[in-house]
Amino acid sequence: MSTRVWDYLPEYERERQDLLDAVESVFASGQLILGESVRSFENEYASYHGVAHCTGVDNGTNAVSLALEALGVGRGDEVITVSNTAAPTVVAIDSVGAVPVFVDVHPDTYLMDTSQVAAAITPRTKALLPVHLYGQCVEMEPLRRLARTHGLRLLEDCAQAHGARHHGRLAGTMGDAGAFSFYPTKVLGAYGDGGAVITSDDDVDKALRRLRYYGMEDVYYVVRTPGHNSRLDEVQAEILRRKLRRFSSYLECRRAVADRYAEGLRDLTGPDGLTLPTIAPGNDHVYYVYVVRHPRRDEILEKLKRYGIELNISYPWPVHTMSGFAHLGYGEGSLPVTEALAREIFSLPMYPSLPKDTQDKVISALHEVLATS
Ligand SMILES: *Cc1c(COP(=O)(O)O)cnc(C)c1O
Repeated sequence: MSTRVWDYLPEYERERQDLLDAVESVFASGQLILGESVRSFENEYASYHGVAHCTGVDNGTNAVSLALEALGVGRGDEVITVSNTAAPTVVAIDSVGAVPVFVDVHPDTYLMDTSQVAAAITPRTKALLPVHLYGQCVEMEPLRRLARTHGLRLLEDCAQAHGARHHGRLAGTMGDAGAFSFYPTKVLGAYGDGGAVITSDDDVDKALRRLRYYGMEDVYYVVRTPGHNSRLDEVQAEILRRKLRRFSSYLECRRAVADRYAEGLRDLTGPDGLTLPTIAPGNDHVYYVYVVRHPRRDEILEKLKRYGIELNISYPWPVHTMSGFAHLGYGEGSLPVTEALAREIFSLPMYPSLPKDTQDKVISALHEVLATS
């Protein structure tokens, strides 16, 4: 059997009874939509973050787009973000009619280069959308300052950064709102789709609850401003509640896997060798993915195929080079760091229950392959 880059089955085996009990408890509750489990999960997730509100939604993409809408971002507004992200970040901006504006990423962390943001602000800029990619946070203070000075909204895409901290503060608590995905692979993953938005702004939360529920507010059946149907499913919410109780142990396991990689691969690093993840000052990394870099990436991946190890690239095509976003006018060469990364990065298997011997297999395979590359 090949080694998968992500696998939930070992974890499912371990947690099976609790997870099946979660499903049973919802089925037996008599309330299948927006019931006790969604309400409780929202309260528990808000309280974990020390914020006033959490609204459960159907997935991470809609968490971003509903949050943008709730923050007043709409047609023709510009939203500054990065191209080195999962495409849904940008799809969400597009779906509210706003225009994505890209800045490049920092060559060490691969996260938004905040020094480029000021120059990207125009009279049409409405929001900043940093992405806490791979499991560590973007440098937030410069963005908070720019948002204050220019009257911009600040939304954090936290789909890869549940539990990540920046100078002690949790991802999602440093701007106007934080959008999360609970897609199964994520640091807090459901057994299906799910998402949430956290905020301490009462009006933003009120808008989110209206937007996820057709646009209905206090009176059922009455829509003043049309919304969407983006509810978090009751079964997924109950599963997420159970997993939230074990959340700190998932983070510990991910960090242990990362430490073992760092230890085992250190001797392969160097200017013409492997580059391991760089943790920015003040960051606690949660390692959603373990991204390494090598100038001869494709050759290495080709050779690694023989070892039956599945590897992933996050992401092989920068969003600005995709045909669906060609109309934005960013050609090849417009975001050089992002484009170089797309050619050189790859991700090693990473999940909390990754067995040690499997990990050692990855480490030794990399040693063998790099000895001849
Ligand atoms: C996964 C992801 C999303 C989208 O989440 P879905 O639940 O799959 O819709 C958005 N942004 C980033 C950065 C992601 O990694």
